Amino acid sequence: MFDFIPVCEPYLAGNEKKYVNDCLETGWISSTGKYVKAFEEQFARYCGVKYAVCVCNGTVALHLALIAMGIGKDDEVIIPDFTMIASAFSVCYAGAKPVFVDAEKETWNVDVSKIEEKITSRTKAIMPVSIFGHPCEMDTINALAKKYKLLVLEDAAESHGAEYKGKKTGNLADITAFSFFANKNVTTGEGGMVVTNDEALYKKTLYYKNLCFPLEGPRNYVHRNIGFNYRMTNIQAAIGLAQTEKADNYKVMRIRNAGIYQSRLKNIPGIILQQTQKDVVNVHWMNTIVIDELEYGHNRDELMEYLKTKNIETRLLFVGMHKQPSLEDYGCCMKGNYTVTEWLTKNGLYLPSASNLSEEKIQYICEQIMNFQKK
Ligand SMILES: *Cc1c(COP(=O)(O)O)cnc(C)c1O
Repeated sequence: MFDFIPVCEPYLAGNEKKYVNDCLETGWISSTGKYVKAFEEQFARYCGVKYAVCVCNGTVALHLALIAMGIGKDDEVIIPDFTMIASAFSVCYAGAKPVFVDAEKETWNVDVSKIEEKITSRTKAIMPVSIFGHPCEMDTINALAKKYKLLVLEDAAESHGAEYKGKKTGNLADITAFSFFANKNVTTGEGGMVVTNDEALYKKTLYYKNLCFPLEGPRNYVHRNIGFNYRMTNIQAAIGLAQTEKADNYKVMRIRNAGIYQSRLKNIPGIILQQTQKDVVNVHWMNTIVIDELEYGHNRDELMEYLKTKNIETRLLFVGMHKQPSLEDYGCCMKGNYTVTEWLTKNGLYLPSASNLSEEKIQYICEQIMNFQKK
């Protein structure tokens, strides 16, 4: 048996230490420092986009993108019901209302066939979330946005380097937000990035990120709008630069790990995997399975308990936005049909998914899942 196998841990195998030590030795530890610019440039190059603005986490990256898009009071933003709570909260921070759309049964992304019925005269934007590293059906989403004159903000917190029809995340929407939390494919501990090809959105992002200090002219301490301090430190950016230099390695590792999981798990009765569509590169942020209790012979909670005794950590999946008391109190519409999200929440779990997880450990995990199945 292996020692405790966590669901995720950061993999810091490049220049992280060297760059961070450079920050400490030179005293450049605030948000002014060469690594901030270097990280933004490297990350923009990695995504193949014109502009990148780093911020202190992924949640504020979403908020800042919404503010740059001009989203505010009385506006509605369409988001997936099955997502991390930050997608919804960021819309609330902007003073707007998140409107939920159920997940789709194969990719677990937003069901694009159910978006149009949620569009009203107040709708201003659609926020697709590339769940677990799988980009959404962006052609359909962008066509709807064009038809109804909406903006598209991709929440790509889980999908650094993912591709849709040959295009990388960052190029699939008007503006895109990334997270660099410790468990994400590229990490700075805490951190985020807003990327876009639109110069006007870029300038607004820069402006609101730094307390609405004027982007040009003298610093006269006169502020025309209410801004935010969402700056990232040079130390975080130093880690981010080192991580981005190796981002393609981490991507390959996560895809390889997912492949091993899939080949071992696909023949176990009652184990359901995320289905990757043909025209995408899924970067597999989290290896997730859904349990069909009748076929597997145990329910999800029983499997999680069993894996715990084998030193394997697992986690529950997101609870749908339509079940969040905070969002109900905020005034969101909680009614509707969210059966796919509810199915995922009830029967799904994350398996260990760190980039540097060894093949032996993945095989061990899969064997335990196989052994526990009731023949
Ligand atoms: C992680 C995550 C976020 C939030 O990022 P933080 O950096 O933790 O604030 C937002 N959306 C999704 C889908 C995420 O997975």
